[in-house]
Amino acid sequence: MYHDVMTPVERFHAVMEKNPVDRIPVTPLTQTGTVDLMEASGAHWPEAHKDPEKMAKLGWAAYEIAGLEGVRIPFYIYAESQACGAELTKWKKDNQPVLKKAAVSSLEDIDRLEIPDPERDGLMPQILEATRILASRCSVEKIPLILTVIAPTALTLNAGMTDLMYSVLWFKRNPEEIEKLMKKCLEIGVVYAEALIDAGADTILYNGAFDAGVAPADYEKMPLKYNREGVKKLKELGAYVVYHSCMDIKGVFPHLLKLDAHAISLSQEMDMKDARAIAGEDTIIAGNIDPTYTLIKKSPEDVIEACKYCIDAGSDVLCPGCGWGPKTPLINMKAMVKAGKEYGQNARLAKKAL
Ligand SMILES: [Zn+2]
Repeated sequence: MYHDVMTPVERFHAVMEKNPVDRIPVTPLTQTGTVDLMEASGAHWPEAHKDPEKMAKLGWAAYEIAGLEGVRIPFYIYAESQACGAELTKWKKDNQPVLKKAAVSSLEDIDRLEIPDPERDGLMPQILEATRILASRCSVEKIPLILTVIAPTALTLNAGMTDLMYSVLWFKRNPEEIEKLMKKCLEIGVVYAEALIDAGADTILYNGAFDAGVAPADYEKMPLKYNREGVKKLKELGAYVVYHSCMDIKGVFPHLLKLDAHAISLSQEMDMKDARAIAGEDTIIAGNIDPTYTLIKKSPEDVIEACKYCIDAGSDVLCPGCGWGPKTPLINMKAMVKAGKEYGQNARLAKKAL
């Protein structure tokens, strides 16, 4: 029978350094708040979005109850925009909150936008407190602690900072104003990341959620420059940086490789085999089991098959393409962990001798 040689944090960090491992890590990089884990831990949304103790409790449940090899908080994408004045509504147990009012709703707002203080604004203080609670526990258990920061392009165009209806038009018609906003969004992310890292985060999932919405030719201009700058600064702060993208990323995927992040977290719309073929052997790729089609709707056996496919296709970190959906059955979360343990010796980096 197979036995682990490395601890979860050793294994995950080895992957971030492109070093050999005993098997693939099953690290939570995207959100892990599911209704089953809320029931099991007694920490439910929306309280677990807002209360540091409950946030820590629900985050910890992904490790303790589901067996994922790390802890990832928070569970939504609005920390930065809320700290800048965005308003959310429809906070529910089984769904993400919805944007009611963007932080920047006119071009004039861009000049008025101030860099938030992570110790004071929005829910950032609560997220920092949950990070501090979890950091010491993660270090005892030898598991990584992953926090998330929105990358400059995604924050400029979406994620509650702006409404997509306007931001896409501004991007085309008002490039100077958009560049001003993107500079501020870069700084907001860096200031926030620094506070998170000080509080004990060892990895930042740098969320470029909306990058796929930018035409590849446009991406080469402003987005590439600022996203790359952000990755560089977060690395200088001492964190591992995993760059995430949502939606159909095929068009801009080659550009993401130029960001120089430790890893790319690949959304489910792109086939792992295709991504590996484009990226070559020198890029770490995490992902990319389909969170809805497979993880919510299929059986544990199907989940295991999908995990085997991803491992054979060249994944370096076994995880969903995007966030775990709140309605994911616990049994399917556990199936992914099982697949990683039982089949993870076939992973690309495990085939290199330890
Ligand atoms: Zn995503």
